[in-house]
Amino acid sequence: MATDYYDVLDVDSDASQKEIKKAYRKKAMEYHPDRNPDDPDAEQKFKRAAQAYDVLSDPEKRKRYDRYGEAGLGQNGGRGRSAGGFQDINDIFDAFNDIFGGAARRQGRSTRRRGRPGSDLRITLPLTLEEIAEGTEKNINIRKFVACETCDGTGAKGGMDGENYVMCPKCDGTGEIRQVSRSVFGQFVNVQTCPQCNGEGRIIENPCEDCGGEGRIEGEESINVSVPAGVMEGNYLTISDAGNAGIRGGLPGDLRIEIEEKPHEHFVRDGLDIFYDLYLSFPEAALGTEVEVPTLKGRARLQVEPGVQAGRILRMRERGIPDLNGTGRGDQMIRVHVWTPRDLDDEERKVLEKLRDRPHFQPNPTDEETEKSFFRRIRDVFAGGE
Ligand SMILES: [Zn+2]
Ligand SMILES: [Zn+2]
Repeated sequence: MATDYYDVLDVDSDASQKEIKKAYRKKAMEYHPDRNPDDPDAEQKFKRAAQAYDVLSDPEKRKRYDRYGEAGLGQNGGRGRSAGGFQDINDIFDAFNDIFGGAARRQGRSTRRRGRPGSDLRITLPLTLEEIAEGTEKNINIRKFVACETCDGTGAKGGMDGENYVMCPKCDGTGEIRQVSRSVFGQFVNVQTCPQCNGEGRIIENPCEDCGGEGRIEGEESINVSVPAGVMEGNYLTISDAGNAGIRGGLPGDLRIEIEEKPHEHFVRDGLDIFYDLYLSFPEAALGTEVEVPTLKGRARLQVEPGVQAGRILRMRERGIPDLNGTGRGDQMIRVHVWTPRDLDDEERKVLEKLRDRPHFQPNPTDEETEKSFFRRIRDVFAGGE
């Protein structure tokens, strides 16, 4: 397969060694197997970037490649490794130890990572019921630690190209402190991460002035979040690697976005249903009326039959919240209240007194309208009936 190594790294054919190194680091981070678990495509790209870097970072190999293409590299060019010779992804870590540092295998068993991972972040995202009913896209600004650009996140003055690291004197560069202790059971070797270099095996001699050697600074990042319809308070979304940047190149933490439901002017949510309180005057309830009520999508007209009782619940089908799994939608419930006048003038009082003893004005609820029916239904349920 013909491969243009310059294309693979996304650099010009006259790119400097510095540019090539920087470009490779960017690609390698992007396709790093730790960030793309079980992704053969990313692994392939990762290996290709390593091949390209192996050739272009070596002036001798690069010269031959520029003149003859891949054919000029032969089977075992340069340092005894063929250009396409990486079989195991760990070979790449070994070959580019200077870049990956911590990811390299050591003594065939333990691995260590350069830097310390960033912490996870947690934020709340307040949403209106309308946004929840429709689903929404949000752009959020997050204050957090971001990688220091001055030093490429390394914490060292001069960044990737600086010669600012010295071997850690406490652990002689191994990143570990070994203590041997003897007991009646035999000899124990206690291995601990070196406290001085945090297991990195090296310490910074000249720290970057912008970040004080942390490799990260306080900053802000804007993140686009796509919220599906039907979420509820307490649901959360996790965005990998969007948390705090790690220290000196450590992996970033995750971002957890928790949904918060803003109180609504008109509605109270109960699961997928929303409840609305409708106040009717006494004549409206008696004569019937048409009212306009708010819904999650603008206003709607609602017919109220004459003789509606206070406490009655009218149902507007499928005007509620959609199910998160996309299987249907709740209803809008209209709870009817009948407004009793608090103040009466003389004329009003006279009219009502006239009506007071009329037969139609005597309360006469049906069983359905009383608490009795409610308790009877409950009892039936417990008795196993319908
Ligand atoms: Zn150390
Ligand atoms: Zn810095």
